Amino acid sequence: MRREVDALVVGGGITGLQAAIDLGDQGYQVALVERGASIGGKMIALSKVFPTLDCCSCITTPRMAAAAHHENIQLFTYSEVQTVDHDGAGYVAHIVEKPRYVSIDICTGCRDCEYACDPLARRL
Ligand code: SF4
Repeated sequence: MRREVDALVVGGGITGLQAAIDLGDQGYQVALVERGASIGGKMIALSKVFPTLDCCSCITTPRMAAAAHHENIQLFTYSEVQTVDHDGAGYVAHIVEKPRYVSIDICTGCRDCEYACDPLARRL
């Protein structure tokens, strides 16, 4: 599938999220590629940031939501940029989406599949 965008942002951590949002807010069409299953990067896994001890979730979560719902940002999670070539008119990036074995368009996140695979897992 070929999609035309104005900018390609590689990495869905705090820096990539902010870059994508800034570009999207200026009207540019952005493709944001994240190799992990979710955006947020390492910062979302931390508690506080030095030296202000600000809450990482409080900083990252609004940007995750803004990027995920931004009309000018297309997210490609669990995907990696394979190549970037110049074709004379612009750049062509090949992005490979890794297999999820789940359709993210219809998955509700109920976790039944997780418990089916691990009957000893506890529901929270
Ligand atoms: S069982 Fe639930 S969590 Fe698992 S794939 Fe289906 S909808 Fe998603």
